[in-house]
Amino acid sequence: MTSALYPGTFDPITNGHLDIIERAAKLFDPFVVAVAPGTHKDARFSLPVRKRLVVESTRGIADIEVIILEGLLAERCKELAIDVVIRGLRAVSDFEYEMMMALMNRKLYPGFETLFLMPSARYVYLHSSTVREVFALGGDVSDLVPEPVSKALRDTRRDAGK
Ligand code: ADP
Repeated sequence: MTSALYPGTFDPITNGHLDIIERAAKLFDPFVVAVAPGTHKDARFSLPVRKRLVVESTRGIADIEVIILEGLLAERCKELAIDVVIRGLRAVSDFEYEMMMALMNRKLYPGFETLFLMPSARYVYLHSSTVREVFALGGDVSDLVPEPVSKALRDTRRDAGK
């Protein structure tokens, strides 16, 4: 079957990411979720914690592998013989960045295709950065993220209050 990899920073994984994972896992085998360091400075969770939260949040979805993605996506795809890279498209605002990345990746390694999936409409405005901001300001994000993330966020709030 066709292999696929879904890269992202997942800081933290949200219900929007989970929606894309559930759709893609039905279509591809093997299906790998790759957690990347990312370039944003306001990282909430370390890379190993982000990976653990993806593993815990995707339990119950058959046959998913979760890895940490260091270095160039194109190189890892070549090594792992990946056919398809999955990206989520929320709104038109995602399009320009995603098109640039897809074309750059194709130039670096023409051996895979980038495929875009749309989430359920209720997740179209959901970004990890919004979750981080709302949470930092004391808001309730429990219906936007999987339970393991909700718990990890509560734990950071509790630890900060000690
Ligand atoms: P974000 O853009 O939320 O900070 P990532 O860098 O982890 O998160 O995103 C990885 C991929 O998942 C990107 O292709 C992004 O567009 C997609 N994605 C993120 N959130 C959603 C969502 N709510 N619905 C669909 N796709 C999403």
